[in-house]
Amino acid sequence: SRPEVAALPVYNAGLSEDEVRQKYNAPHISKLGSNENPYGPSPTALKQWENLTRQMFRYPDATASALRHALAQITDMPADHIMLGNGSEQIIRLICEAYLSPGDRVVTVLPSFGLHMIWPEMMGARVDAVSITAEGRFDLPAMKQAVQAAPLKILMFSNPSNPVGCMMNAPDMLELVACCPPDTLIVIDEAYYEYAQGSPDYPDATKILPRQERPWLVLRTFSKAYALAGLRIGYALASDTGVITTLNKVRDPFNTNMAAQGMALASLRDRAHMRDSVAATVAERERFMLALARQGYAPVPSHANFIFLDVGHDAAIVAERLLRHGVIIKPWREKGFETCLRVSVGLPVDNDRFLHALAIETGQTD
Ligand code: PMP
Repeated sequence: SRPEVAALPVYNAGLSEDEVRQKYNAPHISKLGSNENPYGPSPTALKQWENLTRQMFRYPDATASALRHALAQITDMPADHIMLGNGSEQIIRLICEAYLSPGDRVVTVLPSFGLHMIWPEMMGARVDAVSITAEGRFDLPAMKQAVQAAPLKILMFSNPSNPVGCMMNAPDMLELVACCPPDTLIVIDEAYYEYAQGSPDYPDATKILPRQERPWLVLRTFSKAYALAGLRIGYALASDTGVITTLNKVRDPFNTNMAAQGMALASLRDRAHMRDSVAATVAERERFMLALARQGYAPVPSHANFIFLDVGHDAAIVAERLLRHGVIIKPWREKGFETCLRVSVGLPVDNDRFLHALAIETGQTD
């Protein structure tokens, strides 16, 4: 393979429920490793399912026109500034394939969503990852310094951050972006946008980035708040049609399937369901945080549907032990974060199972 590929790690997507059931013989599985929405998709959308499957002898709409127009209404962006992807992770890959040459520099944060580093490295780019502070905040001065240090092709990070859950407010984001060279592509990954919307000061990047004359992309997904992770569909909102044209050149023509497009469209017609499940998750997140504090942990306040936690022990070992209880979470491996894990906010019963198993395995109880 290319040397860049030989040096890459394989993305760790975690174990599936079936794998855990078989390997650990666990009676119940609490799947809290992938930030899924346990309340499921809109029931109104689910009623469309059979209709959609009858269309499957046809190719899907290559540009997802109906969905782009529905998204345009909701996001207040023109439909030709929108592109769909086979999950937003595919869009991250397309951005890297279209914009990065060997030796280009990308700035992101650490810890980060793995693909924000893996896809740039696949292209031979150099990734400078600025550590999030010990208090679990974006380190604005260090990020500003990093974006100014040398030519910069892409600034990319998620807001709220995966895995930490912290968020960057509008003044900080504008200040950071203003420090980037004028042609740097700004990519704000808002996979958890719907969960953060209720947080005071959370900026919708599509509303503030246009204040700067530069190319930008905001990424969102139907995998989280809309609970369609299994169908693989996400989208990009872009500063201009030029960016979309560039991405379309490297996009597989039929990259999003018909069922995903149809279910996403139907879900947008029932946003009340999405908002209810987000509200339930946010309320449960606060209960979960309090329970963790009672068990002696100091989780970082989260603006998303997961909690980042320093468990004071090697997180990979803790994760392995939790699997024996049927509890799946994600341990962090990067230097400086080896005792940290990320747990999704699931249904109360699953979160309680995690709390119980964690207390047993780390010896911390009420
Ligand atoms: N970006 C971030 C920050 C994520 O956490 C995730 C999913 N874990 C993705 C992108 C990918 O989401 P999807 O491909 O399911 O849209």
